[in-house]
Amino acid sequence: MSGNGTIFITEETIEGDEDGPLAGKSVAVKDNISTEGIRTTCGSAMLEDYVPPYDATVVTKLKSAGATIVGKANMDEFGMGTTTETSAFGATENPVAEGKVPGGSSGGSAAAVAAGEADLALGTDTGGSIRCPAAFCGVVGIKPTYGLVSRYGLVAYANSLEQIGPIANSVEESAELLDVIAGPDEHDATTRDEGADANYASAADGDVDGLDIGVPTELVEGADSGVVEQFWDAMDDLESQGATVHEVSLPSVEHAVEAYYVIAMSEASSNLARYDGVRYGHSGGYDGNWNEVFSEAREEAFGDEVKRRILLGTYALSAGYHDKYYKKAQDARAWVKQDFDSAFEDVDVLASPTMPTPPFELGESLDDPLQMYLADANTVPVNLANLPAISVPAGETDGLPVGVQFIGPKFGEKQVIRTGSALE
Ligand code: GLN
Repeated sequence: MSGNGTIFITEETIEGDEDGPLAGKSVAVKDNISTEGIRTTCGSAMLEDYVPPYDATVVTKLKSAGATIVGKANMDEFGMGTTTETSAFGATENPVAEGKVPGGSSGGSAAAVAAGEADLALGTDTGGSIRCPAAFCGVVGIKPTYGLVSRYGLVAYANSLEQIGPIANSVEESAELLDVIAGPDEHDATTRDEGADANYASAADGDVDGLDIGVPTELVEGADSGVVEQFWDAMDDLESQGATVHEVSLPSVEHAVEAYYVIAMSEASSNLARYDGVRYGHSGGYDGNWNEVFSEAREEAFGDEVKRRILLGTYALSAGYHDKYYKKAQDARAWVKQDFDSAFEDVDVLASPTMPTPPFELGESLDDPLQMYLADANTVPVNLANLPAISVPAGETDGLPVGVQFIGPKFGEKQVIRTGSALE
């Protein structure tokens, strides 16, 4: 059903063809993941009528694992947002917190799982879009290491940052889904053999005895007191199970939000150039020269947030400003990577609140994009460094869900799954 606070943009069912590890499971798929013969809108009026001619690799894998896809889940337009309110098909309400956003941009995916409309879901995480809605809806989400899961058939927002990943009610179920979708793909040259046959589900054993957990001070300082309280309770819980918890420092993350938004918007401005009503997307049958026709299609069919990002991204890449913005952001990205590398010389896993606040009111952040960008402070460093992370529920503050994030070194999914299952 489309629009008005609903979870799915399209509710066509795709049956899996064989028995397999996911036989009998229902899966919601974010609507930026291509499904052959079924509309894939990216939450945008631009792609309202777009029907892909092929399946994304993850969809092929779901089908052969025996899963039933129950619908294409609502999302922020092209993945650009933290609340699922920038969708052209209406906002999704948080199923466990009335009047609040479900988080984003994979808000429909997390809401489907939290509301019991699907057993499992696929989301995509460019700067937190799996972990944020998982945290806000009180479910589990995994952002895999860059290169573990094929992006073939994912409609690109910012390719150097994003990964497809699982959302589920438990750590074990999300690990089972990761087992199905992980692995190299000849159609995506950024995929790797590493980690393909890891048996992630086996890591959900809760064994954290002797595990060394680092807490980056910078990722706790700015959070709401209610969130911080739940976070430290979670750390106490892990210590009581034999883990060691101590504070560490990642000084570079202070610049992560700025660097992330410059890089994400730059990549977006380039990726979204193909939507001109001729090659792809909404076409209004306009008159005029090519410039007028392209401009009208884009003016009419892109939402405000997407336009803002295309403009800012184009600016950051333009001759004369490239070094000042894009190159500087890449330097900051390199520094963030280095900081994580040195942290992982001393610890096995890093932990932080997933989001610095509980879910916001519907409508609250729409007029204040900067406020919305700052909410990504704890999730975007992980994408800049291409690392794996999981968000696991960790109680409530004022009746609203809180999520804790565990970050691992590259291809350290098993470590974060293990830690997540211990907390669970
Ligand atoms: N909120 C971030 C953004 O708007 C992350 C989005 C995402 O991961 N797709 O860019």
